Amino acid sequence: MKVKLKFLGIASIIIFFAMGIHLVGQHAARTGSGFEIIKQARAQETVQTNDNTPLGRKPVAIVNGQYPASYFPNTELLGADEMRITALGTGMPNQTRAAVSISYLVELGNGDKFLFDIGSGALANLFSLRPDFSKLDKVFASHLHVDHVGDFMGLHIAGWLSGRYTPIHIYGPSGSKPDLGTRAFVEGMQKGYAWDLATRSGALPDKGAQIVVHEFDYKQENEIVYQANGVTIRSWPAIHSLDGSVSFSLEWNGLKYVFGGDTYPNKWYIKYATDADVASHECFLPPKTLAAYFGWDLGQATYVSTRIHSEPQAFGKVMSAVKPRLAVGYHSVQSPENNAAIMDGVRKTYDGPLALARDLMVINVTKKIIKVRMATVDEYVLPPDVTQAYKKAPRTDKKQPGKHILSGKWEGYTPPPMPKKK
Ligand SMILES: [Zn+2]
Ligand SMILES: [Zn+2]
Repeated sequence: MKVKLKFLGIASIIIFFAMGIHLVGQHAARTGSGFEIIKQARAQETVQTNDNTPLGRKPVAIVNGQYPASYFPNTELLGADEMRITALGTGMPNQTRAAVSISYLVELGNGDKFLFDIGSGALANLFSLRPDFSKLDKVFASHLHVDHVGDFMGLHIAGWLSGRYTPIHIYGPSGSKPDLGTRAFVEGMQKGYAWDLATRSGALPDKGAQIVVHEFDYKQENEIVYQANGVTIRSWPAIHSLDGSVSFSLEWNGLKYVFGGDTYPNKWYIKYATDADVASHECFLPPKTLAAYFGWDLGQATYVSTRIHSEPQAFGKVMSAVKPRLAVGYHSVQSPENNAAIMDGVRKTYDGPLALARDLMVINVTKKIIKVRMATVDEYVLPPDVTQAYKKAPRTDKKQPGKHILSGKWEGYTPPPMPKKK
């Protein structure tokens, strides 16, 4: 017995070191080091690509549903009849690096892209995909909790820095009072960020500064909030905290995606999510797990989990009624113990196709296939290239500090001359 233990001890030390070497090797391979980095940077300067494909790669079409096991952003051509849904954020307001707040990106074979919610932290995951930000100009907000709209201003500014030269549009619900609606939210943010917006206007394309608010009645039932280019997006009410929370459906080319937002199980979702190919709905932590997760007492956890949100058994009941081709649950943190508690609950009430979403889970949808994978992204990904149209877009209203502040420039430094205009 003693010998065995000794052997196990030595073996585990060897495995530990082997893993360490393997990880170090991987790290060096991914990041490069020293001269290698400089050489790579020079190569990138000379082979400046106009798309956002990793150097040396071209996006390829997927034949007969043979998807690679992992999704590498910008390496796959989306089929003309295909939809790709990426969970950018699936967690809670109190984020972890593995689970930021709620956001979904939907990309269509016609080239359109839509964001459903943009909760705090989701922006880094969006940037990790190196998308074309000139096309990311539409956000559909389910409600105005920070874990659903907290990165909206971040997206507005960072998207404007990284390729968007046209206005950004936000579609969101009214509230029970005007100051609780999406328009008031955006106007308040614009006031709060007045200094930031003033510094960037002139340096960045003029039209990219604009935010266009499309506020709609939160009570409307399955009414159209957006329709263009063969895409129809509808909203219906959700039951969550206060009036002014909604769910959305997106229909295009015979495919239907439903984004639930945050909601207690409600009759509208059961009615209007029917026929969804992919139906996403919150699947919150069950009371005991939530109490342990937050350190709350069971009373508060039960109230939040079963009165404000939908716990796993409730999610399962909803999906048993809706019967989508794929049910997607989100709004938790998928630690092993949480995951086990969620699965226990869901499988008591639902036995159909299921994906519990994690950040950067990718779902490809055609009429024949639904493929669920994880994306592989890097920690230090470069922002995507901007287009020629972005570079040429008019910039006026140049600004600089006042005379007093400029008079404080230190004479000991002279900046290099500006490059000549081409
Ligand atoms: Zn909420
Ligand atoms: Zn939420």
